[in-house]
Amino acid sequence: MATLEHAWIVLVGDELLEGRTRDVNLSECARFLESGAGLRVGGCSVLPDSLEQISGEISRLIRPGRLIVTTGGLGPTDDDMTSAAVAQALGRQLERNADASRMVRARFEARGEEVPPVAWKQAMMPVGSIAFPNGPGIAPGILLERDGCAIACLPGVPSEVRSMLPGLLEVLEGRGWISPDLRSGPRTGLLRTWGLREVHLYERLSPAARRWGCDLAFLPSVQMVDVKISGEAEAVLRAGDAMAEELGCNCYSTEPGVTLCLAAGRQLMESGLSVSVAESCTAGLLGAELTSEPGSSDWFRGGVLSYSDEVKARVLGVSEESLSGAGAVSREVVEQMASGVRRLTGSGASVAVSGIAGPGGGSEQKPVGTVWIALECPGTSRAALHRFYGDRERVRRAAVVNAMGMLYSCLRELRSKGASA
Ligand code: ATP
Repeated sequence: MATLEHAWIVLVGDELLEGRTRDVNLSECARFLESGAGLRVGGCSVLPDSLEQISGEISRLIRPGRLIVTTGGLGPTDDDMTSAAVAQALGRQLERNADASRMVRARFEARGEEVPPVAWKQAMMPVGSIAFPNGPGIAPGILLERDGCAIACLPGVPSEVRSMLPGLLEVLEGRGWISPDLRSGPRTGLLRTWGLREVHLYERLSPAARRWGCDLAFLPSVQMVDVKISGEAEAVLRAGDAMAEELGCNCYSTEPGVTLCLAAGRQLMESGLSVSVAESCTAGLLGAELTSEPGSSDWFRGGVLSYSDEVKARVLGVSEESLSGAGAVSREVVEQMASGVRRLTGSGASVAVSGIAGPGGGSEQKPVGTVWIALECPGTSRAALHRFYGDRERVRRAAVVNAMGMLYSCLRELRSKGASA
């Protein structure tokens, strides 16, 4: 078959159309296919759990050079009908696929269980299917070809979709359905940033974008902006390097899957350090975020949720003078919180946050949104005052992002100083 040129995503599930589930699979697939395979997503269909509608849409979408990726409806229950619908669209029978059967059996055997009869439905695939494994889940992926069009069916659970996309790419590459030329054509790059506003990023990155003839798109969230760079492959690569260097520690990754938590965790691992947290206004959100990635137990020690002054004093050893003089939201208190939790847990690094999340509690000197963040690392300590805008949730989220960003930056700077010393 000729090589694939573009993709179309089909999302299946009543829950999507009824507004019960917010879609994440389109963005997962679109990002991955474009950055991993140079396949731009030309469109997306969202369909109910209806055999006729799924089958009709697949028939309509088949055309040479297109990769159709469906998500959802591969489970064992009656409302899971993607496999049967694809079979109907292609005019093929469903059969028990030998590879898929092995994958399903292995999944249950690993848990010491017999395969429940109903689970075999997940090995039923249209004749001619290639099955590819589902890392975290049971239902294997399905890949088929018809008239120069590839059809790949993935389950609905987003974590399964994410983990199966590289496997799908491998199969497509193995069959020569993805052209190496696509990788040198138009491409996109990514800069994941924290602590800088969109306008400032625009000012700082525009010169490099002009120099290399690339376009920039900004995707902001609270205190973070993902910058998408698009253009010719070589130009995107060079512009991306120049831009990442321009942003320094405010750019924590160029890979879509790397979160700020993961980037900070990697810095800790490479520095051989652990971290602990002392939280006031974020009340556990920082600890939760720092443990949001698997493997964080390698570097996260624990924390103290010191919401009240009493806990700050009794558990963390913050002085009564500082609490009553400078106040709970002050440099001296947050620095003592960081020292206190580091002492208590024996961690190499520590981060402390204290602020006024609102809506009440602000004053003229310390309005709502005032947040102090302190950090201690071997051989260095630093503290920063922030004035965040927005409601309580936004202020707390901004504090968490900046605390993680500060940790990431400090460790990265220390490591690059160590390397150049
Ligand atoms: P299962 O074996 O769980 O039935 P499946 O492959 O049949 O898996 P669905 O039943 O369609 O998939 O969906 C499983 C779960 O994934 C549901 O909780 C559903 O809400 C969620 N899900 C499905 N599609 C999406 C999507 N596009 N974005 C986010 N979540 C989704």
